[in-house]
Amino acid sequence: MKWNLDDILPVEKFDELFKEVETEIKTLEKWVEKVRPEMGQKEFGEMLIFDENLGVKLAKLGYLPHLRMAVDQKDQRAKLLKSRMDDLGLRVSEISMKLGFWIQGKRKPILDDKNAKRLFSAIPDLEYGLIRSREGAKYSLNEREEQIINHKDVNGISVLGDLREMIETEFEYVLKIGKKTRKIKTQSELMSLVYSPKAEVREAAYRALLAKHKDNLDKFFAIYQGVVKDWGYEAKLRGYKEAISVRNWGNHVPDEAIETLLDVCSKNVGIFQRYFKWKAKELGVKKLRRFDIYAPIQKKDKKVDFEEAKMMVLEALREFSPNFSDKAEKIIKEKHVDVMPGKNKRSGAFCATVSPDITPYVFLNFTGKSRDISTLAHELGHGVHSLFANKHYASSQHANLPLAETASTLAELILFEKMMEKETDKEIKKGWLSDKIADAYATICRQNYFIKFEIEAHEAINKGVTAEELSKLYLKGLKEQFGNSILIEGIFKHEWSYISHIFESPFYCYAYNFGELLSYALWTNYKKDPKHWVKIIEKILEAGGSQDPQIILKGAKIDICCQKFWQDSFNTISVWEEMLETL
Ligand SMILES: [Zn+2]
Repeated sequence: MKWNLDDILPVEKFDELFKEVETEIKTLEKWVEKVRPEMGQKEFGEMLIFDENLGVKLAKLGYLPHLRMAVDQKDQRAKLLKSRMDDLGLRVSEISMKLGFWIQGKRKPILDDKNAKRLFSAIPDLEYGLIRSREGAKYSLNEREEQIINHKDVNGISVLGDLREMIETEFEYVLKIGKKTRKIKTQSELMSLVYSPKAEVREAAYRALLAKHKDNLDKFFAIYQGVVKDWGYEAKLRGYKEAISVRNWGNHVPDEAIETLLDVCSKNVGIFQRYFKWKAKELGVKKLRRFDIYAPIQKKDKKVDFEEAKMMVLEALREFSPNFSDKAEKIIKEKHVDVMPGKNKRSGAFCATVSPDITPYVFLNFTGKSRDISTLAHELGHGVHSLFANKHYASSQHANLPLAETASTLAELILFEKMMEKETDKEIKKGWLSDKIADAYATICRQNYFIKFEIEAHEAINKGVTAEELSKLYLKGLKEQFGNSILIEGIFKHEWSYISHIFESPFYCYAYNFGELLSYALWTNYKKDPKHWVKIIEKILEAGGSQDPQIILKGAKIDICCQKFWQDSFNTISVWEEMLETL
């Protein structure tokens, strides 16, 4: 039930590898000083492979303390190793930056197009990454300017981020239910109450959260303004078309694909509104309040132990494709899963891919609820994806954003259908379906409106706006997404100030609806022609991050700039809704 991290590196070997890496960094530095346009393809290729291998060693040194700290946040030894590693990482990133500038043709001796083409083809697996970095030249400044921005960011925007977190961490939420009050220290504890079966608890939790944010709105507004203006200034300086284009470029997706995605998601709000109306009836109220959208409807749920959950996931995956289940089983068999919650263990779940030669690690906090079985499938899905792509070099193994959630979301879908098929208890099925659609709302519709708000907020802030006007803008979006299906109290207009993503990584949230809907589309197609689509899906996964995601998907005849493609994904949700209404 606990993972074995020795496959990354036995801790007693840390020093040895650390020293080795220190020497190799010097070698890389010399290599980078020597690069020239007319150098041989073979020599350039050797340098790339050296750099890749060094990257793998660094990943081992970095992941070992990182994963140790995940299971024991008080692990002092791991903390020490991490701080040593951070310094080393900084040195490497300086060298990589130099190499990056040379590849972009911005560092002497200047690399011309013809030689770039010749050299980049040295290692075909790394070619896409190199071409892409060179294209990035159009948005990069000169070396000195980039250095200044980097240093100024450390003391500027990143401090703003820390400050926001400090303000939020210091909050003590006051939960008022009837005449009783209770103090709650953390936001995660407070937010878990919005899933409570008791309406008054859900309402009290939201009121406690939003009251704090209302009281501190000026601070959040000042910070958000800083974030947005800094982002906008840099976007302009670098020559991006729109503020969101910065994120799109980083994600390897064209602006047009995201515009289409947002458009289709907005057109489909009706699907979720229909669900909320159904839920109101189910809960015996005339209309659902915003406080109640995550109210559970199930009166019972099943609890399973890990052994059972494992069998359920593997069995479902095997039916889909033995290649999937074999890979998932490998992760479990090699003891790369940390299963149970622990005293000093972090919350949540994730999958860590260290390098192509190491089976990925899965981190869980398994308590036996049906949601935990889904999480197991999701994280194993990530691991399966990495194993499909483990023939690549480290830097081209990871799928780029548009494809990063493909296998994980698919694994969840496969499991969900299997569980629904096997379950005979109507009440349980109803509960699962309702939760699934509520999750889909949170992953697709809610995130979509965060992005739409951000687009408007960035525009408004750069023109000049007050905190109150910004909140009104947010409220307008809420009214659009819920229509007449939900009663929204005015206090929700301050909700924007609680969404950490819009502060920490602007325009990040479409990663969620993009990934989810892409997998739904693959799933819809798979159901029409399983044999054919399993092969296509496996090919997409095998590509990892070695190619332009748009080209990988074109191979599967998927066009992410096409309305119809995204529209098809919503069919999956419609089918669930029909099932739910007949149960
Ligand atoms: Zn994921």
